[in-house]
Amino acid sequence: MTPPHTDLSRIRDTLLQGHNFLLTSHARPDGDSLGSQLALAGALQQLGKQVRIINRDPAPAHYAFLAGVATIEIAAAVQDPFDAVVVLECSDLSRAGVAGLEGRVLINIDHHAGNVMYGDINWHDVSACACAEMVFELIEAIGARLTPALATHVYVAILTDTGSFRHAHITARTFEICRRLAQTGIDVAGVAAQVYNNSSVGRLRLIGMLLDRMQLEHDGRISVLALNDAMLAETGCESDDLEGIVNLPLAAQNVRVVIFIKEAADGLRVSLRSKNAIDIRQVAVSFGGGGHLNAAGFTIEHPTPETRGQVIAQVATAISNSDT
Ligand code: 5GP
Ligand code: MN
Repeated sequence: MTPPHTDLSRIRDTLLQGHNFLLTSHARPDGDSLGSQLALAGALQQLGKQVRIINRDPAPAHYAFLAGVATIEIAAAVQDPFDAVVVLECSDLSRAGVAGLEGRVLINIDHHAGNVMYGDINWHDVSACACAEMVFELIEAIGARLTPALATHVYVAILTDTGSFRHAHITARTFEICRRLAQTGIDVAGVAAQVYNNSSVGRLRLIGMLLDRMQLEHDGRISVLALNDAMLAETGCESDDLEGIVNLPLAAQNVRVVIFIKEAADGLRVSLRSKNAIDIRQVAVSFGGGGHLNAAGFTIEHPTPETRGQVIAQVATAISNSDT
């Protein structure tokens, strides 16, 4: 599609010359990280390469249907030698949450703004709607065949990272790639059903509870959802069940930003979502996190009673800035 550019060609050459690769992505993997990894792993295996995927955290249950997901290894560190490590979807190396990556031949493929270019080769394209758009191009560049299995992986990544084709960054390229994916005969409705119609009744009850207790701030323009462990226990949910819930309040016309605060072992996990030009990535960055213009997150390791108000105040400023 797009003509091969320098970073892509260098990555292609490195992958074609090597034999033994490690693929990793960010902790708490999502559809884009898993789809991108599995697609690239499948493509490299077609070419006879040895590939291992090692992630910090297991795949959420609603991605268990993806072929090859069971081969993903879960580890906090890697020791074995590899010709190169492909790090997908990570704006900095620490996002992987896997130790032992430093000092290796690192290939950084990412679409998040603020990537710190930690790789020996860095391919950073913020215009990609999903990292898997880039992986699709890489699959073509290395001359692998687009099988229905690979196409399903890329499709899951694009479907989920675009919020079911609703977010910014969706372009003609996105639909051109999806056209090529659909052409392989993949079951697009079946994939969506696996991802979205597969939750437990407990998740529905949890959604009810969260929305019932939702607080509105800043003239109703900021929705705050707060989750604690008791709510998880009462509904029988796990952290896997939370994916996507943060987007629900955006359905209300007046809501511009959602702040989803979750109690976690390492402090408070905060997910932010915004509409239009409201830049909540900057808010996340100011709390030590990152993400995209409309979807970002961070962890507060030592929350204080003021933390919640500080986050709301920063979000209110981000809303005001977008109006100017
Ligand atoms: P989520 O709210 O779904 O966890 O994350 C939304 C977006 O922000 C994702 O693109 C994710 O990669 C990014 N993100 C979430 N938490 C962090 C963080 O702690 N650091 C950085 N750099 N990015 C994050
Ligand atoms: Mn992504």
